[in-house]
Amino acid sequence: MKIGIRFFGSLCDLTNGKHIFEFDPGINQTIKDCIERLGIPHTEVFFITLNGEFVDFSKIVCDGDFYCVYPECNLPIEDLHFLTPKYSAEPRFVADIHLGKLVKYLRMLGISTEYGIIDDKMIIKRALETQSIILTKDRNMLKESIVTYGYVVRSDSPKIQLREVVFRYNLLKYIKPFTRCMECNGNLIPVMRDKITDEVPKRVQDSFQEFARCSNCGKIYWGGSHYHNMVNFIQEFLNSL
Ligand SMILES: [Zn+2]
Repeated sequence: MKIGIRFFGSLCDLTNGKHIFEFDPGINQTIKDCIERLGIPHTEVFFITLNGEFVDFSKIVCDGDFYCVYPECNLPIEDLHFLTPKYSAEPRFVADIHLGKLVKYLRMLGISTEYGIIDDKMIIKRALETQSIILTKDRNMLKESIVTYGYVVRSDSPKIQLREVVFRYNLLKYIKPFTRCMECNGNLIPVMRDKITDEVPKRVQDSFQEFARCSNCGKIYWGGSHYHNMVNFIQEFLNSL
């Protein structure tokens, strides 16, 4: 028994650039099993065709089948054929524990990104509860059938990871720098200087006009040198897109 699978677009990032696979899948295997065995979690797959007909993940593969497997793309395909429903709300994320730097960058841009959960099952549970997208490099986590939305971060470089996620989820229109706490993801609310006199040093109060407080953890933010470094980072990042 032999089947063929051809991967398109960004899916080939996950197969070291290889497009076509031909192999013996064994008996009674679903196309989902076959695709995931080649290293691509189902969350990355948007539709599959067999001889020009759409099939779903439960299709049992047969000798001689040749499948085409596609990522999300702009082809004029009816929604009913999508195996992963399009994410239509403002994207929010739950990030795996090894993506700390990417999390800081996303929060800096105002993109909601929860972080700090270590256990894979708890990450999945949290993502399902909050309708969030899981960001991870752990493909096995995204192969769990209950996961709907998830993205395998490709690069090891946090700056390139940021670029990947911004492009993948069209985040440009959602970028609102300095509206989210870098520590806990809470929303930052502007606060008058006379309301924070007990909380920041006198020299800071004398030097800065504008302050914001995290509505969740209470941390106070102001425009110090760290802030200027972040402004430069964001400027450079946006210019590089
Ligand atoms: Zn906070």
